[in-house]
Formats: sequence, structure tokens, C-alpha cells
Amino acid sequence: MHTFEFIRPRDSAAAVGLAAQAKTAQQGADVRFVAGGTTLLDLMKLNVETPARLVDINRLPLSTVEAAPDGGLKIGATVRNSDLAHHSRVEKDYAVLSQAILAGASPQLRNMATTAGNLLQRTRCAYFRDTAMPCNKRAPGTGCPAITGSNRTLAILGTSESCIATNPSDMNVAMVALEATVHVQGAKGPRAIPVGEFYVLPGSTPQRETVLEPGDLITHVTLPPPVAGSKQVYLKLRDRASYEFALASAAVILTVSGGKVTRARVALGGVGTRPWRSPEAESALVGQTADAASFRKAAEAALRGARPQSENAYKIELSKRCLAHALQTASTS
Ligand code: SF4
Repeated sequence: MHTFEFIRPRDSAAAVGLAAQAKTAQQGADVRFVAGGTTLLDLMKLNVETPARLVDINRLPLSTVEAAPDGGLKIGATVRNSDLAHHSRVEKDYAVLSQAILAGASPQLRNMATTAGNLLQRTRCAYFRDTAMPCNKRAPGTGCPAITGSNRTLAILGTSESCIATNPSDMNVAMVALEATVHVQGAKGPRAIPVGEFYVLPGSTPQRETVLEPGDLITHVTLPPPVAGSKQVYLKLRDRASYEFALASAAVILTVSGGKVTRARVALGGVGTRPWRSPEAESALVGQTADAASFRKAAEAALRGARPQSENAYKIELSKRCLAHALQTASTS
């Protein structure tokens, strides 16, 4: 592991000032924020991440969950995943978020991992984590061995010629379905970013994963007020029953009135290069009878743009069935 400087600022302004000296907010950044460390420290031990300075944000007052003035919820950046999943408001009004968090990692990891860290969780592509291999995301311009190599777990939506890595987070899928907003304190002041605009597609620059700029500190996330009468479900399919990443997952928020779908929010996990909102599925659902045929049509719409690789064409049907089943469960719960 490389030598690094460890700093514990007492306020957000100092943290931002320390981090603004980074050359880039993306991979290879020479300054990194750390809280739970469940992704970053792993990657530092592997020499995938080699920051010269770590800015520990655990002392900052960012660890509370509070009611927002509009009836929504404000979630601090360093709220632990376990605390968030078991928070009474989250269990009651944002069940899809609670379910998604509890479907991820292990109890020990959820006790350490934070809201902001989970938003910035990095891919599990094996080539990315192996510094002996080329990888455009880790070392831009070196190539993507996954395209002709091992890609069974990788993405089928949002891929490019440069990268086909999957966003690994469960929590992020729920955040996208809930239309969360990410609040950032940057060198030029605060700003709010809808989570749907937070992640960028890999294109020809897969090293850039979000719209964050050098020095940007995620301070909190807000959720809009819950939608009365909606039902929420997170369904995750994976190789084993726990402590495993999704091959396919679906977060759905469904409102049904008089047997018809009146509102739908749909996001997919395990299949996209970013947590994958599907406006196609949502449009296909609204106004339709809440039945198996409509749910299958919505799933077909969601996966219409899928581009499988040599080993992961199975994900197309798996993801369709996952989404249709999640919608069925929500409609009957
Ligand atoms: Fe690297 Fe992305 Fe290719 Fe994986 S899929 S090897 S992360 S460029």
C-alpha cells in the first residue's frame, strides 16, 4: 500500500478545502474522502486507488436522518447503511430503500458503510480490481479485456466500446426509483443534483462515473415525500442467497387504482453501467390493467435496448422476469 496523509477536519468547509486540491474527483484522485471505508480501503490495499491524502469526514455533523420541511426525508452522508435501513421512517415510507440496503453486503459491512460511500461504490469488475490487467476505468486508454473475456456478471445496458462494468450498488437502484436528490458542498458552494443526473454513462471516459468535481463533498441526500397509496418492492436475484452482488434486481414503486396503474417508478440493478431508471417501463405501465400481461410488456420495454456480451445474454430474460415479478408483488401487496 502507498503512503498517505490522514486528516480529520472539524467542519465541511475545511474538508472541501482539503479535497479541492485533488487533480480529479475520479479514479486516481490524489485526495479522497473516507467514512466507512468499506470500498476505498479495499481498493487501496489492492493499489487500485492510491490517494496521497485521505480526508476523514466522520467528525462532521452528517450522521442524522431528519424529516424534511416538505414531508420528505433528509439523510446525512455518513448515516450508516444499517441505521438507514432500520430507521422507522424509511421502513414505513421508503420500504424499497430499506429492502435494497438489507439485500446488499453483510451485516458487518452495512454497520460501517455510509450513504455517500454507497452512492460512490465502485464496480466489482474483476479486471478493474487487478492491477496486472489493463482496464480503461482504472488506467484510461489501456483497453477493456472484459469485452472479450469474463463478462458474465457485467452490464447489458448503457455499455460502450470502452467499458461494460456494472454499477454494483443495491441502495442506488432504490434511490433512483425514489427520485432522490444528492446534495453537494463544493469549492464554489452548495448544489443539488437529482440522482438521475448524478451518474454518467461510460462512453469513452469510463474513469468518470459521476458529475462530481474535485473537492465536492456529498453532505446529504433528500427523498421527496412518499406517494400516498403506493406500494414499494425491491427484488434481487443473485448466485447465492446473501453477501452477493445482483445479477439482476428491480426497484418498483407502484400505485394502482381501480385495477389500473396510475403511477409507476421503475429502476433496474445488476444490468446497467449506472443504476438504471426505465422511463420505457413506466410509460408502458401507466393506464394499463395491473396484471401479468402488462407487467411482462413493461419488462420487455425496459430491456429493449439491451446489448449482451458473450457470456451475459441470460441477463435479458432474467431481468425481465425480475421486474415482472417485482411489479406483480407490488400490485398484490
Ligand atoms: Fe475495466 Fe470497465 Fe472493462 Fe471492467 S468493463 S475491464 S472496469 S474498462
